[in-house]
Amino acid sequence: MADKNKKRNNRNKDYDDDYNPKLKKIKKKVCPLCSDKNLVLDFKNADQLKKFINDKGKILPRRTTGACAKHQRDITLAVKRARHIAILPYAAKD
Ligand SMILES: [Zn+2]
Repeated sequence: MADKNKKRNNRNKDYDDDYNPKLKKIKKKVCPLCSDKNLVLDFKNADQLKKFINDKGKILPRRTTGACAKHQRDITLAVKRARHIAILPYAAKD
């Protein structure tokens, strides 16, 4: 049975062992705040924070923004402060 499976797997294998099409498409994300040391997150700067929310006004997850854990917390806090002073919406009207 094991031999049979091995044979089946080898049939369509015209590429090398390390090649994985799923992994090839993944581009390593770099934290936007770590990469740019001069960038300071400001809750009064709506244009800056709009990069971290979607069209519904939700805060984007780390897997989308690529922010590190520390900076994601800062982003979240800044967005929430901006919502409180009515710079950003809590929920965008659709
Ligand atoms: Zn960071």
